[in-house]
Amino acid sequence: MSSLGKLRVAVIGAGAAGLCAARHLLSRPDTFAPPVVYELTKYIGGTWVYEEKVGSYDNGLPIHSSMYRDLRTNIPKEVMSFPDFPFAKHLPSFVHHTEVRKYLEQYCDHFRLWDHIQFGTSVASVSPVDVKGGWNGLAWNVTTDNGVDHSKSTTERFDAVMVCNGHFYDPYIPAIPGLEKFKGFPFLILHNTFLLLQRMLMHSHDYRSAEPLAGKSVVLLGAGLSGLDICMELSNVDAKVILSHGQRPLTCPLPPGVQQAPPVTSVLDDGTLEFKNGERAQPEVFLFCTGYNFTFPFLDKKVGVNVQEHLVWPLYKFLIPPAYPSLFIVGICRAICPFPHFHVQTKFILSVLDGSFCLPSREDMEKDVELDIAARHARGIATRHILKLDSEQWAYNDELARLGGFKPLPRYWSNLYESNKVFRARDMLNYKTHNYTVLDNMEWKVHDLHGQELQKPLAVKKQM
Ligand code: FAD
Repeated sequence: MSSLGKLRVAVIGAGAAGLCAARHLLSRPDTFAPPVVYELTKYIGGTWVYEEKVGSYDNGLPIHSSMYRDLRTNIPKEVMSFPDFPFAKHLPSFVHHTEVRKYLEQYCDHFRLWDHIQFGTSVASVSPVDVKGGWNGLAWNVTTDNGVDHSKSTTERFDAVMVCNGHFYDPYIPAIPGLEKFKGFPFLILHNTFLLLQRMLMHSHDYRSAEPLAGKSVVLLGAGLSGLDICMELSNVDAKVILSHGQRPLTCPLPPGVQQAPPVTSVLDDGTLEFKNGERAQPEVFLFCTGYNFTFPFLDKKVGVNVQEHLVWPLYKFLIPPAYPSLFIVGICRAICPFPHFHVQTKFILSVLDGSFCLPSREDMEKDVELDIAARHARGIATRHILKLDSEQWAYNDELARLGGFKPLPRYWSNLYESNKVFRARDMLNYKTHNYTVLDNMEWKVHDLHGQELQKPLAVKKQM
């Protein structure tokens, strides 16, 4: 607690989630001291800071961002933005990643966040301490260094910590029997010379542009948003792509030169990939678009936050460890509309900290987490998909707004977002040429590339 009795909150990371946290903490000087935002790189924006390099920065730390050169957003700007800060009017609905970075910088300018960010500062540990007074008798020691030289560290005391370290930077590679053999078999003798057949195993974290893979045969594993997007980029440079995935076969038109296959189940001794249906392929490139691991290396084990099969738990409302309710792990849900989700979570956290929402007891929160997980399992949701909220995100957002006593997202938000999903599923090659216009709190319309108004998908309920 600051000398003036205000709550001191540490924010880990200056990506979209951390910036959102800082913006709302600063807007409540009655209750909160100015936040301290720790950011290990020299920039704000996290994911949206494109790095041409792969591997590590000059100081040896691993590159955080998984952004690729030509990425345009997959969510229209009308619902991708924070609800209190729209993207510039002149931009199309689907913007290049450089515009998102600019947008986040403008957000920092507008809400005067810059002075509260400590750049080049890595959070090395976050440990709870019992204190007299404070927030529920609990405080946090946050130890930081420059991420490279751990001998010079500093520790500061906070009432609460918001963890906003992102979860798209530690590549997840599924265990495929024989995978280590993929790099074998590199030589071919042709006219008495050795030719090195460049076989390459890579993860989308290290994908920057399609040109290095031009004309190559590629097995791309994973048909999530990045997988499909990269698939289209590769098709544009005449790569021959086998899109291997475990979902139902896609029925929308695929980019030229792309075929579908079931998941790769093993790699044979000579490096051949075998699919679930027994078919085989010998691609030059095996590209994993298989997502990322959650990691919280700085978090004291005592806090008991576990990561198991892509589930982070136990967390009340996917945010709060019941035993340590002044720690908040922001933005771990998947298949969501991220910026508004961060906005809603942050407003809820503030309502917890300022006492306007009184958390249930530890036991009740633990029970709530247990029941929630059991109910999802009972609906056939595997543990690894529990954090994928998808269309349930709207009920989640509304619930947090109701509990926290703040305004929910405008009503058009869910409907427009869900409609974009339908357009994407129907025509992944062209949905980014659409432009949306919001008319009022409820209504919106959408036009195609030629300015023709499109019919809204019937599959999306009018009121979500
Ligand atoms: P990040 O942006 O990852 O930021 C985390 C920050 O924490 C980083 O700056 C990092 O340096 C810092 N940090 C980490 N550890 C520490 C530490 N120990 N100490 C100090 N600082 C630390 N979302 C959309 O809304 N629309 C899209 O079109 C879209 N496309 C995407 C495409 C790709 C390829 C990827 C990977 C993601 C995409 N997303 C998209 C999701 C995107 O990640 C989120 O929108 C959002 O940017 C995540 O913000 P974040 O703050 O949670 O994490």
